[in-house]
Amino acid sequence: AHVSKNTSLVTSTAATPTEVRDGVIDLGHGDPTMYERFWKRTGDKTTVVISGWQSISYFSDVGNICWFLEPEFANVVVRLHRLVGNAVTEDRHVVVGTGSSQLFLAVLYALSPPNASEPMDVVSAAPFYSSYPLMTDFLKSGLYKWAGDAHKYGEDRPYIELVTSPNNPDGLIRQAVVNRSEGILVHDLAYYWPQYAPISSPADQDIMLFTVSKTTGHAGSRIGWALVKDEDIAKKMTKFIELNTIGVSKDSQLRAAKILQAVADSYDNVGCNSEESETFFDYGYNVMKKRWKQLREAVNKSSLFSLPDFPLGTCTFSGRTFKSQPAFAWLKCEGEIEDCENFLQSHKVVSRGGKHFGDSTKYVRICTLSRDETFNLFIERLSTIKTRNSYTN
Ligand code: PMP
Repeated sequence: AHVSKNTSLVTSTAATPTEVRDGVIDLGHGDPTMYERFWKRTGDKTTVVISGWQSISYFSDVGNICWFLEPEFANVVVRLHRLVGNAVTEDRHVVVGTGSSQLFLAVLYALSPPNASEPMDVVSAAPFYSSYPLMTDFLKSGLYKWAGDAHKYGEDRPYIELVTSPNNPDGLIRQAVVNRSEGILVHDLAYYWPQYAPISSPADQDIMLFTVSKTTGHAGSRIGWALVKDEDIAKKMTKFIELNTIGVSKDSQLRAAKILQAVADSYDNVGCNSEESETFFDYGYNVMKKRWKQLREAVNKSSLFSLPDFPLGTCTFSGRTFKSQPAFAWLKCEGEIEDCENFLQSHKVVSRGGKHFGDSTKYVRICTLSRDETFNLFIERLSTIKTRNSYTN
């Protein structure tokens, strides 16, 4: 891989991957640069031009509960879910957010009783997405607080359970674990797309979060959306975003709309099952399939590591029967290596240690959505780690 000395976050291009610096491969973040190659190929079909006079107003759709939601974006969200069959959109309100991160905070605000004497408990089954506890407690809200691993939750009071499926970090398909009547569920379905996991049926939950960051890779546009059944909850989420950022960038919504339209349009011509097509989800599926094959081969070469196994499933969208090929590898260091993050660091691979996810230091999370050059370099390096002795080298 080509590594530029000038590489920095602000000068990032495909030729100077920010993921590799001074020989250190950084796969600690979930940056979806893998998709860059696909979008380069589509050329001007997804270029958006916004004139100086456009998108000036704060308002997008004053008749809608979510008054800053661009109708073009809302329409294509519904169209894409119908096409893929991964979520029910009927009788749902669409709320747009600056990434699903903002929607996560909006949801916590909307679900917490305003006048309770104690903050509402927020739980998720370990290993959970490392940002949940950080985001929940960052401003030390009086409305809600992080209450840890849902498996260990024993309180007898109202709570919010975050159900991430497929899960970040381990890629497993999940369901709620606490299952008590005082609980409210939030389903984070950022990875429920056919390049990562077989789509089994349309998700039909009360509150579902999605993001273009993981759907098409446009993390930099900072656009996410929530599908919300209850009108009052949708109103409160909208209020949160109003008081937080007075809406969500129209420029970004219009760009995201254009990109999602291009994804949906490509299926109008070829049909969902065409093998020859250059459709977006086929591209994503094929890259992920190849990467997971490389990853499992490298891991199987030594006895130092292991990866989770996934059940076979048939995808209602593609018709393919396959095992999940998640956006992250939840890698376990076997044997006496207790701190997997340190161990990999000594081999110049940056990962995120299991502790951040409420789990053991024997695990690390590795992003599989980097650019090809970076991923191949990682596989090469992983393959050369053969013995525990190299730890001390
Ligand atoms: N939820 C999950 C499970 C994620 O992995 C991420 C991104 N890493 C997000 C939410 C946030 O995504 P964004 O704010 O970019 O939409």
